[in-house]
Amino acid sequence: MKLVQKIISLCKRRGFIFPSSEIYGGFGGVYDFGPLGFELKKNIKEAWLKVMRKEENIVPLDAAILMAPAVWQASGHLSAGFADELVECKSCHKRFKKEELKEEKCPECGGELTKPRKFNLMMKTFVGPVENETTTAYLRAETCQGIYINFLNIMNSMRLKIPFGVIQIGKAFRNEINPKNFIFRTREFEQMEMEWFCHPKEANKFFDYWTTQRIKWYYDLGIKKENLRIREVPKEERAHYAQSQIDIEYRFPFGWQEIEGIHNRGDWDLRTHSKHSGEDLRYFDQDTKEKYFPFIIETSVGVERCLFAFLSDAYQEIEGGRTKTTKATKEIEILLKLHKSLAPIKVAVLPLVRNKPELVKKAKEVYKLLKPYFSCDYDETGSIGRRYRRQDEIGTVFCLTIDFESLKQNDLTIRDRDTMAQERVKIEDLVNVLKEKFK
Ligand code: ATP
Repeated sequence: MKLVQKIISLCKRRGFIFPSSEIYGGFGGVYDFGPLGFELKKNIKEAWLKVMRKEENIVPLDAAILMAPAVWQASGHLSAGFADELVECKSCHKRFKKEELKEEKCPECGGELTKPRKFNLMMKTFVGPVENETTTAYLRAETCQGIYINFLNIMNSMRLKIPFGVIQIGKAFRNEINPKNFIFRTREFEQMEMEWFCHPKEANKFFDYWTTQRIKWYYDLGIKKENLRIREVPKEERAHYAQSQIDIEYRFPFGWQEIEGIHNRGDWDLRTHSKHSGEDLRYFDQDTKEKYFPFIIETSVGVERCLFAFLSDAYQEIEGGRTKTTKATKEIEILLKLHKSLAPIKVAVLPLVRNKPELVKKAKEVYKLLKPYFSCDYDETGSIGRRYRRQDEIGTVFCLTIDFESLKQNDLTIRDRDTMAQERVKIEDLVNVLKEKFK
């Protein structure tokens, strides 16, 4: 089985990610995040927020998904620029991206193809009781427009001075023609975007600063250095307004692909929205008396895409298993070496055996004790070795085992996922010991 298939299967089997509307035959390019996927996604977003909020002069925003269609008119998303070039098969009516076709005929049925035409990626809906041109609205295709159009609101209400940043996490929708590679390219996804407003003369400095910060974020969360690279996007591939652009690429099982984009967008966004809205979005510097359109440095990453990168990076298979002490069946063991701050379950509480009521009672007490502090699992079914492996494959950082000794000593063993080393800890010290380990 290919690595991607193995990851997809683990995600489904263990409650990370399910295909949408599965009982109705599925819904292309859309996925649901299960209990563990929810936790992992939440942890990624928290890790991003944490580093962003450490910066001075950064404020959050939660703009609506729906906006006046004029926003998208101004940003250029309704024009040909935000569109894929498609051809349609005259016999089976399937559509394909022109640039991905190897031959001039339908790859599905061999039929004749139409001439290419532009297909806009914005998702349409209607707002109000009638459905016509005047009530057409769009689901946002990127979260950043909500930030640009609130530039004055945010700056004035929070009394901010340039330079400052606005961060936002939220859903975005694109009618991708070719959703593929599991959650890599989907029609509904979440973005984490940071827009940094600065003086034009300082834009290059901040572009470099943010590039360094963003790379560091991945390294600090354990991404292997050899699987991450920066690609400077050449001028001919950049959007016309992007003064400079780099893509942070990850080596997925299907090749190097972008996970995050960092752009110097110049003054294009504020200038364009000024022109279309009639509002003056220039900044007035009280000290220098200069009035100007700030430049914007943007960092933009898809939550699901980087989640996929973290999963691929963490996934390991150990032929014959790691346990050398027990007679465990020597099958392939899966280990998900997620960074401790990303792991969906931090600790699992396991009574050594389940047919001893005293052990079960004590284990349940420990589970109850830890639940307010850590995301916890409780598992009593199957041999202890099998339970360790079940936790290893979802990345649980520590397994806590309550054995017969525990009843006498009021302690338990903590097993480390990565080293499998075990130490005994008194139950009264447990919360503090674990807090220390998760610092
Ligand atoms: P691509 O070239 O892969 O379509 P893009 O360059 O259009 O992506 P941006 O518009 O710069 O992407 O979006 C920023 C980030 O949002 C991307 O780096 C990616 O992580 C995420 N993203 C964009 N489109 C999708 C999608 N269809 N599914 C999942 N994530 C996406």
